[in-house]
Amino acid sequence: MDVLVLNGEEVTRLLPMGDCLRVMRDALAALARGEALVPLRMVMRIPGVSGFLGLMPGHIAPQAGREGALGLKAVSVFPGNARRGIDTHQGAVLLFEADTGRLSALMDGGAITAIRTAAVSGVATDLLARPEAAELAILGAGVQARTHLEAIAAVRPLRRARLWSRNPERAAALASEQRLRFDFPIEVAASPEAAVREADIVTTVTASPEPILQRRWLKEGVHINAVGASIPTSREIDTATMAAARLFVDRRESALAEAGDILIPMLEGALKGDHMEAELGEVIIGRNRGRRSPTELTLFKSLGLAVEDVASAAFVLRRARETGTGQTVAM
Ligand code: NDP
Repeated sequence: MDVLVLNGEEVTRLLPMGDCLRVMRDALAALARGEALVPLRMVMRIPGVSGFLGLMPGHIAPQAGREGALGLKAVSVFPGNARRGIDTHQGAVLLFEADTGRLSALMDGGAITAIRTAAVSGVATDLLARPEAAELAILGAGVQARTHLEAIAAVRPLRRARLWSRNPERAAALASEQRLRFDFPIEVAASPEAAVREADIVTTVTASPEPILQRRWLKEGVHINAVGASIPTSREIDTATMAAARLFVDRRESALAEAGDILIPMLEGALKGDHMEAELGEVIIGRNRGRRSPTELTLFKSLGLAVEDVASAAFVLRRARETGTGQTVAM
């Protein structure tokens, strides 16, 4: 059995943001049509260590014009890595032949996570932000901040981006690096409030366990992508914003099991489970119309789904075969 092995640099080269946006749209639409399987992820905490291992299997059924895909992402999240200059999210995606179950590829999971998460926020922004939205704020300056800038710039012609990070040097470094890639101004904001006050689109990509975004700072008609918190005990968004928002999620079942941004306001009695308007895929296939007015506040709560990893990996594998990229290992 031959297994194709692809490193992070190869995955990044083979999965341009524009393609990933399309692949994510198709994958989320397949999920909404019942053509994909995504069990809740398994998270194994390690006693005495500030980190965990997550296992995320997923399957997309074959359809006319589309091959099936079967795979698993194993991802470790070690927040302390940032201090040691190592990415906090590491891992791999294993891809299997959907008809025989044979292992076909092993690829860097960090690169897939960085690109696919941002692409899903790009899809959400495209569907839910006002058409003329042009001012972006990003809270956080890590791996996801970088890819989110690219994804959102791909779906709206931005006039300005403001970045905030609790460590201003990291925000300044990211801003100087990204100014070389984009022709709109990229500024560093001194506080989360200063970053978001003028924003039409706000993206939160921090590892903060406590809210960093408050309702009273937000402009009318803003769209928010809340990406950073993915466990029940952490949240980035305050209760007032969650209560005011028309709320969209990647998957209801995951949101009710994993999203502190939703579960904590529910425990406080400020939200009910039916506050969730729709899954993103339901908006894509037209079952929900998304934004209804220029003044409403829309919020996409992202948790990340295995179907996004598996669809991305299947695309990368196809491109790798077409271009002769990667190392083949006989197993
Ligand atoms: P990084 O470690 O690269 O960046 C983390 C960012 O969060 C840094 O800017 C860091 O600031 C900031 N931060 C950490 N703690 C706090 C805090 N207490 N208050 C304010 N800011 C803080 O991580 P990634 O960019 O890879 O991921 C960002 C978040 O997104 C993580 O929480 C991750 O779990 C989540 N995520 C969600 C996914 C999804 O699909 N929804 C997928 C992948 C990641 P500093 O530089 O000062 O440390």
